[in-house]
Amino acid sequence: MKFIFADSLDYVDPAFDFIADRSPAERQPYWDDAYPHEILGYAPYDGVLVSRGIVGDHRVKGKYTASQARRFGLVGARKFMRLDKPEFAHLDIFGDCGAFTYVQEDRPPYAPAEMAEFYDECGFTHGCSVDHIIFDFDPLLGNMEGGSQDARARFDITLENADGFRREAISMGAEFTPLGVVQGWSPGSMAEAARRLVAMGYDYLALGGMVPLKSPEIKICLEAIRNAIPASTRLHILGFAKADDIDSFHGFDIASFDTTSPLIRAFKDAKQNYYLPGDGPGLRYYTSIRVPQAIENPKLQRAVKKGMFRAEDLVRLEALALGTLRAFDRGEADLEETLRHVLVYSAPLVEERPYEDCAGSLALAKLEERYRVTLTDRPWKACGCDICKDAAIDVIIFRGSNRNKRRGIHNLAVYHEHIERLDLKRAVNRPDDLQRSLCAAER
Ligand SMILES: [Zn+2]
Repeated sequence: MKFIFADSLDYVDPAFDFIADRSPAERQPYWDDAYPHEILGYAPYDGVLVSRGIVGDHRVKGKYTASQARRFGLVGARKFMRLDKPEFAHLDIFGDCGAFTYVQEDRPPYAPAEMAEFYDECGFTHGCSVDHIIFDFDPLLGNMEGGSQDARARFDITLENADGFRREAISMGAEFTPLGVVQGWSPGSMAEAARRLVAMGYDYLALGGMVPLKSPEIKICLEAIRNAIPASTRLHILGFAKADDIDSFHGFDIASFDTTSPLIRAFKDAKQNYYLPGDGPGLRYYTSIRVPQAIENPKLQRAVKKGMFRAEDLVRLEALALGTLRAFDRGEADLEETLRHVLVYSAPLVEERPYEDCAGSLALAKLEERYRVTLTDRPWKACGCDICKDAAIDVIIFRGSNRNKRRGIHNLAVYHEHIERLDLKRAVNRPDDLQRSLCAAER
């Protein structure tokens, strides 16, 4: 099973100075920064996925600057992402349209021929057909039952585009592997879409629209699709947000999936921000310690404007929290002292009150409990990756993109190892036995 990382320019500055809290003045982000495979010294994934909508153009505003988008078109995906080295030659480069960027439009802004050309010219190894996201989902509908007028129109557009896209790819002698994207409003309609894509000639399908679905719902869809297509047809899950559940999906014979989840959770999850391998089959998670920039954090700035705090007091508390955390890492401050300084600075953020007025509050108590686990276990000392060795305790401090994305990249490395371990375990336990016991369990 291949883990494909969906990139959106997730690089960090290797020269970032944690103590001064800044990058060198002459830093040029794209040129001087390092992608995950550069800062770690190896690729923590089996491939990357680049969405056309993230690159952007005059129709869809992407994340790339105009000159970055131009360079991408000029030198191709592999060179743009600095994956053009022998040690990265085995990595796949998947492309999709980024259907979420035009979800509100009546029709996708890209023609099938144009997308096939884009993938071919930019050197993608795999390209997804031009799909249109369907919003409705009803897990109980079989066959082609139900489906709003809009859902059915999007279903037809997606299949029509897939047919045209495959023909174009073949007629231009494209070197990438085309994937037909499945969109549907129910397990039944997705199975029908998959069946039609196979009839068109596709042997690799990508399941779209999975982002909002829960794991059991995704499984119902996969089961319906698997029953409608040959065992030899490969399946990819697009935007697989439930990446940490991956082990429970192995019976569906998924060839590949793409996700940003391990990276994103480093700074978007309320509790599970730092990954470590677990003792059992799952991962272990730690809460990162929030020490936002006093003079930049919008919430703290509002509190200052309202006269609740003085900016210089916040800056002092911030410095005290950061300084004690680093002293703790060097063994020069104890746990209770460190926790207290962190919580004193957390109070204005969490409770919008000085610590003295809310020391016993429920929110602070919960935070204290989680921070206590993080500081007691010191997980960053248990990781041998280059990021943790270099950033030390700063990797677990929730503060600015250079720390937060570093933590996310560390998570990618832990996650990739996790997947490889699961695959290895499966190779040792013969797959047919697993398949049989799975079938037995379903009966
Ligand atoms: Zn690490």
